[in-house]
Amino acid sequence: ITPPPTVLHAFRAAAARAPEHPALAYFDGRLGYRETDALSDSVAGCLAARGVEHGDRVAIMLQNSPHFVLALLGAWKAGATVVPLNPMYKSGEVGHALRDSGAVALICSDRAWEAYLRDTAADTRVRVAITACERDLQTRDDPRVLGFERVPTEVDDLLTVARAGHPAPLGRELDGDDVALISYTSGTSGTPKGALNLHRGIIHNAERQRTGHPVPEGAGYFALAPLFHITGLVCELSACFANVGTLVLAYRFDPGVVLDAFVEHRPAYTVGPSTAFMALAAHPGAGRDHFSSFLVISSGGAPVPPALVEKFRAGFGPYIRNGYGLTECTAPCASVPPEKEAPVDPASGTLSVGVPGPDTVVRILDETGAEVPFGEQGEIAVRGPQVVPGYWGLPEATAQTFPDGELRTGDIGFMDEDGWLYVVDRKKDMINASGFKVWPREVEDVLYAHPAVREAAVVGIPDPYRGETVKAYVSLRPGAVVDPVELSAYCEQRLAAYKYPREVEILPELPKTTSGKILRRELRSPE
Ligand code: ATP
Repeated sequence: ITPPPTVLHAFRAAAARAPEHPALAYFDGRLGYRETDALSDSVAGCLAARGVEHGDRVAIMLQNSPHFVLALLGAWKAGATVVPLNPMYKSGEVGHALRDSGAVALICSDRAWEAYLRDTAADTRVRVAITACERDLQTRDDPRVLGFERVPTEVDDLLTVARAGHPAPLGRELDGDDVALISYTSGTSGTPKGALNLHRGIIHNAERQRTGHPVPEGAGYFALAPLFHITGLVCELSACFANVGTLVLAYRFDPGVVLDAFVEHRPAYTVGPSTAFMALAAHPGAGRDHFSSFLVISSGGAPVPPALVEKFRAGFGPYIRNGYGLTECTAPCASVPPEKEAPVDPASGTLSVGVPGPDTVVRILDETGAEVPFGEQGEIAVRGPQVVPGYWGLPEATAQTFPDGELRTGDIGFMDEDGWLYVVDRKKDMINASGFKVWPREVEDVLYAHPAVREAAVVGIPDPYRGETVKAYVSLRPGAVVDPVELSAYCEQRLAAYKYPREVEILPELPKTTSGKILRRELRSPE
């Protein structure tokens, strides 16, 4: 069967097939496929009436709520390219993305509009603003859920627009080659660049997720990863609609709220960064019952320590499937096949991220760009239908990162003879201690095996003798007590002398992006 050309086509097919099936579940509220289709038609009609045309950019800055989905589908139905923005962005970051993308419309929360977005947008090409109160559509009166009231704004309200019954605009249908998203990379390593995610890349990876991690048609997909990030948008939202599933939304990541929602909605599938699973596992009262409905739990976007997989399976039941991807390849390009478990490389203790997906070629290259033999380390390069054609408005960065259309990931990895891929670390995070290469992830994996450690991040710090030396930052599991010197000694027993952290600092929490990745960059320069 040929997959549909876009997620919008998949969504419409699902709405025709199961109009009453809930497409969205949000706390105690639900929206069926037919209703979601009609509401997003109306959003599209409104955008078109306000002058949004095919190819225009529409920025969406909302949490994981039905409002996000109505805005996304509405913008696509109007033929627009969506610019998903992290709701944690401050004025400068939003301003950069709005100006860089040339967005003409912004859909955001009413509070953020009042607080700063009206002023930020004034200085850009944005001429259509729609605000949403993400408290709408859920009625439960639980202060943990969404503790805020509607803030009146002078611009349109998203739900009012959605309920106005505007017909969807007629125009050229989107196709696979249209740009679905301009995704600003999370900036773990520098200034955000807008990756051009095409519809065909999204549907390729959504289909891969649906068929590679099968759950029954109609099942619940829990949106643990944020939808403004490519992993959530592809592996959760898009795979869910391609499978006529119910997308379960919980606004934002709060371990207590998420665990309650697992029990209430009994989802079969979720994907999130490994840090989210660590936080869920460490939450007081978390137990096997919370996870008993899951058929697939996958982790992507950040390293997965093998110790986490084992501790999680022993404590909660499910096996965490590793997967590897980047914004530049529209989320995953390698994952663990359903009938298998990822091997751990005996020499380095690294957990494999899986095998390359269908039609995807992964090569490991040396510094000259030549392929290295199996087992040898080099830069991971990816070619396939999910690799983006480049960055918005940055021909030089595009040529550098995508020579001849192949994505140079900036990650160091290796492949074994059976085709399993291993990610060693980011090239730029390598620590050079007296000329010895130290990969932070290897040291972190050792720290994660210590019972007291909840999160670990390893960075290089200047050292007068070695040039650089290894420093670890850790946060501890609730109630755990451990001396930093003991943690350093624990690593010394398990790692070569140049690798173990000479310094260990315990922090209450490690700095993270909102998509859950630990920000080593901030630890390298704490000021
Ligand atoms: P920036 O590009 O600004 O640095 P970012 O790299 O965090 O931001 P993403 O595209 O979200 O942006 O992340 C992709 C990166 O995440 C990969 O290049 C890789 O370093 C890391 N990553 C993803 N999945 C895995 C995994 N399973 N194991 C180890 N690392 C992973």
